[in-house]
Amino acid sequence: METGNLKFNSKTIHGGQEPDKAYGAVMPPIYQTSTYAQTTPGGHKGFVYSRSANPTRSALENALASIEDGHYGLAFASGLAAIDTVIKLLDPGDEVITSSELYGGSYRLFKQIFGKYGIVFHFIDMQTPKHIVNYINKRTKLIWVETPTNPMMNIIDIAAVSKIAQKHKALLAVDNTFASPYLQQPLNLGADIVMHSATKYLGGHSDLIAGGLVVKEKALADRLYFIQNASGAVCGPMDSFLVLRGIKTLHVRMQRHCENGRVIARYLAKHPKIEHVYWPGFKNHPNHNVAKKQMNGFGGMISFIPKGSSFDEAIRIVEKLKLFTLAESLGGVESLVGHPASMSHAGIPSEEREKVGISDTLIRLSVGIEDKDDLIADLEQALRE
Ligand code: PLP
Repeated sequence: METGNLKFNSKTIHGGQEPDKAYGAVMPPIYQTSTYAQTTPGGHKGFVYSRSANPTRSALENALASIEDGHYGLAFASGLAAIDTVIKLLDPGDEVITSSELYGGSYRLFKQIFGKYGIVFHFIDMQTPKHIVNYINKRTKLIWVETPTNPMMNIIDIAAVSKIAQKHKALLAVDNTFASPYLQQPLNLGADIVMHSATKYLGGHSDLIAGGLVVKEKALADRLYFIQNASGAVCGPMDSFLVLRGIKTLHVRMQRHCENGRVIARYLAKHPKIEHVYWPGFKNHPNHNVAKKQMNGFGGMISFIPKGSSFDEAIRIVEKLKLFTLAESLGGVESLVGHPASMSHAGIPSEEREKVGISDTLIRLSVGIEDKDDLIADLEQALRE
């Protein structure tokens, strides 16, 4: 079936999918095999060895390409494995411009692994895209954007950054983990590569680790595939199946994440014990207009600072929450709470963290799809003395 022209809510279910060729299974079977029989050397049915390709992974890769409006998808063992593959496009001496506010694991990979191999990273504030130009030179090969940013929920104007990247012949890659393609499709805004931690909203059930890349251009897809196959951090068949199953409900889950996110953000903003709430849906959010322009909703990720809070008070609140589980990660059906300074962003030196506002008192919520009244009741009891 031709699925390219379907609307997003149909693409999540049918995009790039067709009944299995062997028995017509409607759901892609889990091809739990490392290798494939050949009739004569090279005589195979398109699959040779599962690091190079596996039918369950291919089904996921097609689905990823479809929901991101790209042409080629690649599925990885984790989000970081996907990022690792993108950076391996570069040579020693090449330069990358990226945001000073980045997922801690991306920062660690850039600084502590690729820094050692001579790739230079500039961590800058990208909320004003024209600042990027000050860091561009002949060696700039890649601009890496994460938006909304984690955990400060700043929004970076993808279309504006893409114009700068194109003018200077640098690739633009966007980590779309926080928004998901339901809210934002970076390739349609001019990005060359879109990246996902499929562990989050795409999988949606906190039961797997996986990553993805999607591109439009064949030559770029071929270079990324070469690195994926050569380095080997591919998504296994079982996890590919689970991500595919998650994607089928992405649109309905995201609707509820957005609804609950809005209710909780407003509740927190009115609460006398809260000093500040970071959520791009507020009209007074510094990048609200950009969010409105490039996103189809504001999502369920919210950060906040309790009034007059200390490190100990923030820890007391996150420990007191019951329905919001204190845990790393985000984007699952269940609500989670995290303390970025000591959890997701602990790998970033404290001076760097403080510069971008990730204080010891900042608390981050991944609002799930439970009943909103129960979530509010949980916050209410945790904020009480
Ligand atoms: N990008 C973002 C925005 C993330 O939040 C994460 C993980 O939390 C990653 C990338 C890394 O993904 P993974 O944990 O699947 O390797």
